Amino acid sequence: MTATPSGAASTTLWRGLRVLERRDGDDVRFALRRADLRIAADRIVAIGDLAPEVGERLCEGDDRIALPGFVQGHVHFCQTLFRGLADDLPLLEWLSQRIWPLEAAHDEESIRVSAELTLHELLGGGTTAVMGFETVRHTEHTFAACREVGMTAILGNCLMDTGVSGPSAALASSSREAMRISTELADAFDGRDRLAYAVTPRFVLSVTEELAHEAAAFAHARGLRIHTHACEHQAELALVRARFHREYLDVLAAQGMLGPRTSLAHCVHVDPAGRERIAASGARVLHCPNANQKLGSGIAPIYDYDERGIPIALGADGAPCNNRLCALDEARSAARLQAMSIGPGRWPAARALHSITAGGAEALELPDCGRIEVGSRADLVLLRPADPDHGAELDVASMVVYAVGRESIDVVLLGGREVVRDGRSLVFDSRDLAERAARTRARLLSRAGLSR
Ligand SMILES: [Zn+2]
Repeated sequence: MTATPSGAASTTLWRGLRVLERRDGDDVRFALRRADLRIAADRIVAIGDLAPEVGERLCEGDDRIALPGFVQGHVHFCQTLFRGLADDLPLLEWLSQRIWPLEAAHDEESIRVSAELTLHELLGGGTTAVMGFETVRHTEHTFAACREVGMTAILGNCLMDTGVSGPSAALASSSREAMRISTELADAFDGRDRLAYAVTPRFVLSVTEELAHEAAAFAHARGLRIHTHACEHQAELALVRARFHREYLDVLAAQGMLGPRTSLAHCVHVDPAGRERIAASGARVLHCPNANQKLGSGIAPIYDYDERGIPIALGADGAPCNNRLCALDEARSAARLQAMSIGPGRWPAARALHSITAGGAEALELPDCGRIEVGSRADLVLLRPADPDHGAELDVASMVVYAVGRESIDVVLLGGREVVRDGRSLVFDSRDLAERAARTRARLLSRAGLSR
């Protein structure tokens, strides 16, 4: 902690906020509490009716609603540059016709720009902790971009040593190269700053048995998380059955990929026995409701996973299959899809808000994220004060999930530091970033041999 000229502790006092608070009980309930927040370094150190200390920096909350920074469990930083380049296709065609050729054309510069675009959008929408699913190469540049911003990020290079051909063939690596890259990234970044490394097979169709077993052994030996896609689309499940002659989760289990540190993105098509298998394994589910809608994949049984005690985080997935990276959008879609699937009220707004805050943080094993408590990291989202578009505040979960959008976000604090003010990034020059992205995207399309 640095000392001010007066010798007082270098702290910041946010006065006059209305802070989101979880109420204890059988079900998840939220309420707002008038409070001041004291922040020292990157932590919340006091909450309540607080008198300013000598030398303390004062910030007026002006009755703003303060939410914890949002947590997203599944985002592809490397695909943000591809937004609008892969619309209106089902999963397998979306991958083979667009995403794999585009990922194969990535270079170090385009990965870096795509990471900055992602961070710009995530922070603007209040996401302050994320698990990212990257491409085969150059993931060190995504780690570096997250480290420079101070993002809490779990990232991994995509493992892919089979299943691609034609113009995408260059995307695949050998299993030896995949493990070399994985080891180098884990050595360089795991457990440092706010970063962690996850072993990240794309899905069971993209890895040989040799690589799957070696990668799982590496994860277990190093105590690393595993992050993969599973059971997303019916056509994918049919290919898995044809290749392995067994069910998807059986394949993952036999490979050593299904356990308490495993996060499974999607899990749209899982029968009750499979759901129980996920619960018994201790694995987590990463729900991507907007991507599931846009790719026509289906509605995941999130209510049932929740009932079984499976930890759930939400994620925007990739910009080319969403096409936004906003936690509030995902919360709204998740609640609405469960209403569509099982009827309104059984997986209500409070569950959705929980899954982009404390619940999502629990799913990602980030105990100091997703809540506003003494000792938590000072990741905060402050909404615009007195916004008539928000409606009644009697039920804050309803308001945040069903009415509030990213345009309502005024200030974002990342580890106590303002990274968004008046809804604008203080980290990135938005215009410059857009111009660099356009130039980089044009070069990438040229390398991929695509006109658009
Ligand atoms: Zn994904």
